[in-house]
Amino acid sequence: MNFNKLSFGSTIGIIGGGQLGKMMAQSAQKMGFKIIVLDPDENCPCQHVAHQFINANYDDEQSLVQLGELSDVITYEFENISENQLQTLVSQYNIPQGYQAIQLLQDRLIEKQTLQKAGTQVAPFVKLSDTDSLSQAVENIGFPFMVKTRFGGYDGKGQALITNEADLDNAKTLINKQECVAEKFLELQKEVSLTVTIGNDNQITYFPLQENEHQNQILFKTVVPARVEPQIEQMARKEVEKIIKHIHFVGTFTVEFFIDTSNQLYVNEIAPRPHNSGHYSIEACDYSQFDTHILAVTGHRLPEKIELLKPSVMMNLLGRDLDLLEHKFDAHPEWHVHIYGKISRKPDRKMGHLTMLTNHVEQTEQTLLNHFEGRHG
Ligand code: ADP
Ligand code: MG
Repeated sequence: MNFNKLSFGSTIGIIGGGQLGKMMAQSAQKMGFKIIVLDPDENCPCQHVAHQFINANYDDEQSLVQLGELSDVITYEFENISENQLQTLVSQYNIPQGYQAIQLLQDRLIEKQTLQKAGTQVAPFVKLSDTDSLSQAVENIGFPFMVKTRFGGYDGKGQALITNEADLDNAKTLINKQECVAEKFLELQKEVSLTVTIGNDNQITYFPLQENEHQNQILFKTVVPARVEPQIEQMARKEVEKIIKHIHFVGTFTVEFFIDTSNQLYVNEIAPRPHNSGHYSIEACDYSQFDTHILAVTGHRLPEKIELLKPSVMMNLLGRDLDLLEHKFDAHPEWHVHIYGKISRKPDRKMGHLTMLTNHVEQTEQTLLNHFEGRHG
């Protein structure tokens, strides 16, 4: 799709005002764009850095139209928006990302089917339309497997690990809420992700491969460059090339991968927006994932290549880490600290992140572990 280049001073509307919206806005403002954000939370992080704030639910039609009328282009910070409403907006306003990526990626079942169709390797899965279909999961996949709700999960929410018959009750609890998918639980050697931006005229820009460590299914830290054999990065790019033949993207998106103990690469999931594992790029790269996203949706050329200026370690700051951080912050000017400005501090809620640029990655990881030891204990 070709669309107009937006001149500086134009207005970008963002659906969703969490940390991703906030960091998009900060990049956009650096380039002279104005921001209007729509979010149901009157204290959402982005509203403090937006020119205008529409405090409304994501499915409030009138407010979405208002956003459309006031914006020269609309983007979004997450995938859980109504596909139908987005489709209507796309027909009326400038939304270069379209609605297809949302349609295909907000439902884990359709996402996996699309990935299969695209010819990428995904973990074996079955659809769970009711509790009876669990027997198929046991038969076709076998223990252990993960049960994940089709819609709305994030940071491990809406998921259960099923290791034996006794765990099946946990699966049933999820299925009674909504349809799910069961997916083979892989023995992981490593998790990596690849952040990509697609611009006007299908220009593709890759960020370096990111190595991710999760704790309790929440991203704990990202190390860049990923410590894997160099061919893994090429394999990951090949998987992305297959995916983009089936899904139309404009802007920044991230593909999450599993590497199992036999060195097999599996696509886990795709986020059609900037992603937590790309946050290091703000300080560690010559363009951040938010910069390239804004360039793409405003119709500007992307840099040919993203330079990693220095290896880096990014660690998420959850609610439970903030007290510790406040004590240690002053002693560590080398920590690039981002605090999102969320009012309610819950132990597992992402409240911020910190990035360290380092030539001694292992040492830096150890230092961070020493400071935040037992954070999830
Ligand atoms: P979310 O939308 O919450 O990010 P994911 O499907 O990416 O959901 O799961 C979160 C994390 O849980 C993964 O990054 C991984 O650490 C773990 N996980 C999920 N599915 C599997 C699986 N099939 N095998 C092994 N680990 C898994
Ligand atoms: Mg994930």
